[in-house]
Amino acid sequence: MRCWLEVRRASLLMAMMTIFCVISANAQINESTSLAEIEFSRLSQRDPNPLGETALAIHPEQWKHGETEHFIYHFVHSYVATPVSAEAEFHYRVVAKELERDQPPGDVKSHIYIFESPDQWQQFQAFGKLEPWTGGIHSQGSLFIQRNPKYKFSGNLLGHEIVHLIVHRFYSDGIPCWLNEGLAQYISKAAFASYQRARGYIAKPHSEAIATADLIALPALTAMTFPPTDQVTTFYDESERLVRFLASTDKPGFLALLDTLGRHQPFEIALPRAYAGKFADPSVLEQKFREYAAKDFRTTLQQGDDL
Ligand SMILES: [Zn+2]
Repeated sequence: MRCWLEVRRASLLMAMMTIFCVISANAQINESTSLAEIEFSRLSQRDPNPLGETALAIHPEQWKHGETEHFIYHFVHSYVATPVSAEAEFHYRVVAKELERDQPPGDVKSHIYIFESPDQWQQFQAFGKLEPWTGGIHSQGSLFIQRNPKYKFSGNLLGHEIVHLIVHRFYSDGIPCWLNEGLAQYISKAAFASYQRARGYIAKPHSEAIATADLIALPALTAMTFPPTDQVTTFYDESERLVRFLASTDKPGFLALLDTLGRHQPFEIALPRAYAGKFADPSVLEQKFREYAAKDFRTTLQQGDDL
């Protein structure tokens, strides 16, 4: 027979589950259903990226395939691909909400290739450019990653790459490097914390403070086309902070800036237009951003951590 305390605990748990279900209605996670395998010939779409063909040519007999609403997966074991597919769709919803837009016109899906063998991954790396932050390869809207099932993966690294994939769908002509990396860090950190909370963990996104002396000046940061090898960490942290600052200062302004930079207009012209009255020129932004970048948000971050 169950004691009163157990009954109370069970009903409290039920109540909490109900609250959780309401909160996570827009962010459902489904890792319990294994990703169904589909014959390659029956996949709804092909990947025009030649790098995809190169990947599938490495031990072609090993590859299995599957798809969800927005992504197509190429993998070796479904137990490795299933959590990737859950995270990918979760991030899709988070990014669409953050950028306040739905599926771009058309129903093109992004392809994700999941290598398992370290040797095969090393062999494949010769064909693509590794992202220094995550070790994944993002090329023309397709993602190539390695997930060695012997190791447990944690953090926002996969989420970061998936944000790139989704941003590429909305801005297929490309956006500046700082904005792409900053968005990937900003959204994936918040999404990861939200993902952890949905599994019952207490988690808040952490944004790294940057010492004023280490800051890359904004004209240099916004002109970079690839993270600088000698300042990789600062580049990612500062880009994330800049996106966070611009988005929290004026969200409609930020979305307007994103659209303008997506059309390849120069930052110094796009900024005062999108933030009229706030940042008359980039030097005003630089001054305010320097103070913001040095703040430690570990304990003070309250808003903007729930996407
Ligand atoms: Zn990145």
